[in-house]
Amino acid sequence: MAISTASSHTSSTGAAFDFRERVREIRQMLPWDVRTVIGTFHPCPRVNTATRTIHIPFWMLLKSADIPREFRITGTADPRFFNPDFLTEFANWYATVDHSAPEVFSYHSLQWVLLVSRDSEQYEKSKRFALKHEVAHLVYAEQQGPNKLKLHAGWDCVEGQVKRLFGNRFPPRKYQIKQERWCDLHAAQALGEEAGGIYFFSSLRDLEIAGKRHLFGNDPREYAIRCDINGDYRPEFKTARQSHPTNAVRIDDLMRAQFERAHAGNLEFGFK
Ligand SMILES: [Zn+2]
Repeated sequence: MAISTASSHTSSTGAAFDFRERVREIRQMLPWDVRTVIGTFHPCPRVNTATRTIHIPFWMLLKSADIPREFRITGTADPRFFNPDFLTEFANWYATVDHSAPEVFSYHSLQWVLLVSRDSEQYEKSKRFALKHEVAHLVYAEQQGPNKLKLHAGWDCVEGQVKRLFGNRFPPRKYQIKQERWCDLHAAQALGEEAGGIYFFSSLRDLEIAGKRHLFGNDPREYAIRCDINGDYRPEFKTARQSHPTNAVRIDDLMRAQFERAHAGNLEFGFK
């Protein structure tokens, strides 16, 4: 059956990708005194609060329209999502725009780019959220002061060592997790909406679930033994200390904030 339409025969490559212009657009979303480094190949940006430098992964410079149509996917259920040939073709295309990237791309990162760019509007919102989240870390560091931050980091460490002695292999870093949750809500507050963050963490959660299902041979029992329904390893299967809230917790935080925003000032809510 022919499914292609007239429009799908048009050229699949979008407008020419202008690296400098895209960097300028990103810079406009950040405070003037924040330094940026572009080029890491990772799902998330990160910040160094001491040097006020935000490391921006290259995918954040892309827009959905830059990605040729043959690489557009609908989600993790797309049968091409784990197809090595498809991912290799995508890696080859990716290397034509991202000259700073390493020669070897991980499937995980390629899948992330495919997944997060699938909805052009939400993709843009999620990038704004991710940037604001990193800026929120700078705000948090200023509010707390360097001494309190060091104290919290130190306590996370001490508590970890003590709990390890009592058989708890990987106790979560409580204060670091608290900071991440604060930054999520602060970012959404600054943007006036939670949608970008919810899309961002939902995409990450979908990637985790799909990746682990694949890893366990798509055997539902194997998956259920090791992971919960959000794609997070059960405590006995964790291999590192948790330093960030789970995607499920972050989505939940943002959905609560979204709910409160929608009903703020509506005194009659719930009584009719
Ligand atoms: Zn963070």
